[in-house]
Amino acid sequence: PLTPAQFPALIAAISATISQHADSITELDQAIGDGDHVFNLQRGIDALQSHCAEIAALDWPAAWQKIGMTVMAAIGGASGSLYATLFIGLHKNTKDKPADLRTFAEALPLAVEAVKQRGKADVGEKTLLDVWVPVAKTLRRSVAEGKDLNAILDAVCAEAEAGVESTRDMLATKGRASFLGERSKGHIDAGAKTAQLMIAAIARQIR
Ligand code: ADP
Ligand code: MG
Ligand code: MG
Repeated sequence: PLTPAQFPALIAAISATISQHADSITELDQAIGDGDHVFNLQRGIDALQSHCAEIAALDWPAAWQKIGMTVMAAIGGASGSLYATLFIGLHKNTKDKPADLRTFAEALPLAVEAVKQRGKADVGEKTLLDVWVPVAKTLRRSVAEGKDLNAILDAVCAEAEAGVESTRDMLATKGRASFLGERSKGHIDAGAKTAQLMIAAIARQIR
């Protein structure tokens, strides 16, 4: 089973994929945002890496709480408080539950629901929610159906990619991109793209 002992490897994989795609992500956030999304994420990743050993020694509920608090303190910008909300949501909804995939799969949609409330946003507004909402639904459904791990990861990764692509022709109505109105159309959302890259990196790591 996946435990926080694997957290250092997971955060290293996330760091690597964000670095590899840094230029293209920055272009996306420059096109319709303020261009700081990679910088914001990297600050969060650096902070998590410096607390790596401590997090690896915790159980998942405590690890999610530590991750959420670390991200909240390290990242300015919309993505900081949204990801902190996601991780604190995972803490709240995994606490006192069995440490297994089913618990995580049931907790993720609830944590994503908290992110929606925090940002007063939903799917279809050209944000990271266009990845996290369908991914969380697909994860819960495919785990409930008893699919094997590879099939679950395939389904989740495909959903993440479709979610990113769906943002291309959307009109942004939340975040900085909304200031552009119609001009926000034609570019995929940076936050949706980094969500998909992180999910793909995690999937590769746990296969
Ligand atoms: P900022 O926009 O404050 O500079 P970032 O650049 O780090 O912060 O993050 C921007 C990303 O945050 C966007 O690409 C979008 O995916 C996401 N985002 C912005 N506002 C919201 C919101 N209200 N709800 C969900 N996601 C949002
Ligand atoms: Mg930005
Ligand atoms: Mg900013």
